[in-house]
Amino acid sequence: MANRYYCPAHVTPRCERGDGKPKHPKCRGCGSKLETETGSHGVFHWTAQNRYPAKDAVKVYQSPKAAQDYVDKQGGDLVVRWIYD
Ligand SMILES: [Zn+2]
Repeated sequence: MANRYYCPAHVTPRCERGDGKPKHPKCRGCGSKLETETGSHGVFHWTAQNRYPAKDAVKVYQSPKAAQDYVDKQGGDLVVRWIYD
């Protein structure tokens, strides 16, 4: 299970989002309470529809770096997309 977080307000360019758990509860850009979500980092073949159902994942990683490393190594049309639980 992977985590990521984001600022739900997203009102300034400094509003935060990132992988893992936030180190502090509030957005440093605007002060909103950060939201976290759980899921996985999926590797998919790119599609023009921009739809990436979990069942189409070529690989699933819990680490965004591991997923990106795989894509970088394989090349081609692979992309990393978040899979919501
Ligand atoms: Zn914010």
